[in-house]
Amino acid sequence: MSLILEEITISLKRGKKLIDGLSLSVAHGEIFTVMGPSGSGKSTLLDAVGGNLGKNFDLKGELTLNEQDLLLLPPEKRNIGLLYQDAILFPHLSVGENLAFGLKDKKQGRAKRRAEIDKALRQAGLDGFYDRDPATLSGGQRSRAALMRTLLSEPAALLLDEPFSKLDLDMRDEIRSFVFSSIYERNIPALMVTHDPSDAVAANGPSISIQVI
Ligand code: ADP
Ligand code: MG
Repeated sequence: MSLILEEITISLKRGKKLIDGLSLSVAHGEIFTVMGPSGSGKSTLLDAVGGNLGKNFDLKGELTLNEQDLLLLPPEKRNIGLLYQDAILFPHLSVGENLAFGLKDKKQGRAKRRAEIDKALRQAGLDGFYDRDPATLSGGQRSRAALMRTLLSEPAALLLDEPFSKLDLDMRDEIRSFVFSSIYERNIPALMVTHDPSDAVAANGPSISIQVI
């Protein structure tokens, strides 16, 4: 088991509990789905795992990734990738420069960097898109580019916050399979939160439901 949440309780400092004693573990190459309605604390839970919980929240419990205590690490040292429903690409950079931003090894030579980005663009069905302005991409193309930017940082785990909810129905299945197969291929644990039951079915992994408390 590689990503482990043990008895995670998240409360607002003024006392209201959002998540109450949640335990789960996510294996390598597995997508674990947490289902819950709007306001049940899904995004807050992912903030806690990624290290981005606001100061007005209180976190109890244990969080480990590959035996490392995440609670001792600031967000930038956790090596966790995030994918949100609003796939935001920097508008002042080209598509390729956006992907370059994600590259883990920025010190390798220019030609090698370019080759790595072109390969990622090809994998995402965006062959030849290096110089494109992100504003000219469709929603699906933007999602795929954002996923590749995240994956180029070689994260040890991935957090997905309703990543498909804003996509048109006709492309949702295609993007979802692309994201999921990229996760299986890299064999990293992924924690997905969603209110869409079809996401959990497609993830083909364990799932639990949380409620508004
Ligand atoms: P979900 O993602 O499941 O819709 P959230 O995690 O965004 O739920 O929010 C859970 C609850 O926490 C909501 O009631 C929301 O209003 C509250 N909340 C979220 N962020 C903050 C914050 N920074 N300060 C106070 N309350 C917050
Ligand atoms: Mg949310």
